[in-house]
This record gives sequence, structure tokens and C-alpha cells, in this order.
Amino acid sequence: MLKCKDVVAKADALVDGTSLTMRERIALRMHLLMCHHCRRYVHQLRVLVNTLPRETDRLDDAQTRDILEKLDTSRDP
Ligand SMILES: [Zn+2]
Repeated sequence: MLKCKDVVAKADALVDGTSLTMRERIALRMHLLMCHHCRRYVHQLRVLVNTLPRETDRLDDAQTRDILEKLDTSRDP
């Protein structure tokens, strides 16, 4: 079984849905079923990725506050 550090290392690929084999994806999903901490980490990473603007523009203060509020209020699905 994967360790938490393995999940953290592959979390971005899981969120992006790229560059994971079926075996890796299943192993990550199995770990997430059993590990509350990694489930929360991946959930917050998804919130962050879906909230950030796609461009490389700098965020203004209101955008930064909005993202921080979403991360702060996000809980396990
Ligand atoms: Zn874990």
C-alpha cells in the first residue's frame, strides 16, 4: 500500500488526470479511501487548481482573499 508521502508526490498528477497508469490511479484511490489526511489534501489541491486563473497574471487582493476563503472553508467531500 502507498504511504502518505507517495500520495503527496503524485497528487498533482491525480488532480490533472494525466501521466498516471491505471495501477497507480487505483493505488492512489485505495489509499484515499482509507486516509482522511490525504483525502483532505487532494480535495484542497483540487479546489486550488480549479480556483486559480489559467493565465499567469498576478492575482489582485480580492482574488487572493477569495481563494484563501475557499481553501479555508473546504472540507472533505
Ligand atoms: Zn495518507
